[in-house]
Amino acid sequence: MRSYGDGHCDTIVRIYEKGQELFCNDGHIDIQRLTNYKAPLQFFAIWLEPRYYPIAMRQTMKYIEFYYNQIQKNADLIGHINCFDDLEENKKKNKISALLSIEGGEALEGEISAIHTYHRLGVRSMSLTWNHRNQLADGVAEKDSKGGLTKFGRDAVAEMEQLGMIVDVSHLSEPGFWDVYNLAKRPFIASHSNAKTICDVPRNLTDNQMRAIADKGGVIGLNLYPPFLTTEKEVEVEDIFRHIHHILSVVGEDFVALGTDFDGIDCCPKGISDVKDMDYFFTEMENEYGEQVVEKICSKNLLRVLAEVI
Ligand SMILES: [Zn+2]
Repeated sequence: MRSYGDGHCDTIVRIYEKGQELFCNDGHIDIQRLTNYKAPLQFFAIWLEPRYYPIAMRQTMKYIEFYYNQIQKNADLIGHINCFDDLEENKKKNKISALLSIEGGEALEGEISAIHTYHRLGVRSMSLTWNHRNQLADGVAEKDSKGGLTKFGRDAVAEMEQLGMIVDVSHLSEPGFWDVYNLAKRPFIASHSNAKTICDVPRNLTDNQMRAIADKGGVIGLNLYPPFLTTEKEVEVEDIFRHIHHILSVVGEDFVALGTDFDGIDCCPKGISDVKDMDYFFTEMENEYGEQVVEKICSKNLLRVLAEVI
């Protein structure tokens, strides 16, 4: 059995909207399939469809309530984590560890104290933006504006670091990224982004951005969404390796992790149709990079960030 740590999925929102269950569903991730791994760690993101922005906090609360309801229903198999020790406890009890994250600072509705409230509710990671501009910063879809972090965005980063909430820069504009880098005193992550040199799309990271994440001790989570892996053809495992090769050559083996984006993506690379198939991907990866590097990418690097930040 392999260890497993994934920094991003949209499972909670997907199953809420479809009326399905975390134990077993027809998406990419459920408890049944996560138990194929040793001490799995899964980040569960709360993402808001833009139509919910006018009621961002209310909708986020609904999803958070649903998340805890699902965890409670399956308490013998999965446990929410607030700190690194919780993860160690879950490991001992053979349980899946669930980390609650927020995708997009819209959920704050411009209220700085909401970061504290979400932290009290167990949120341990938050990306500042989704693709668009919000009160914190510009997202990647706003590149023409060249906007970075607002005053509120800067305050939010400081609050998150002080509380022990991981700052996630996936979806953030490049000027915003550099603002975070200049402000950050702790490791920050790009939970689900790939290498721009290999696939030039706005959601991926330049080599300098990856170096900056490594410099602060964070991680880059490999995203499995085919259009972020290659724009040229049907995507295979080899295409993920091209990103891994490149990231390893730029920052080395301590800063690559997984950020599958499962249940947030409508197609996957050939051979990987859900979380269960990641085992096949890991075996292929092991042939390519050896056991030690695979261990780091599959969980160790992400665990290091958790140990340092939350
Ligand atoms: Zn995303």
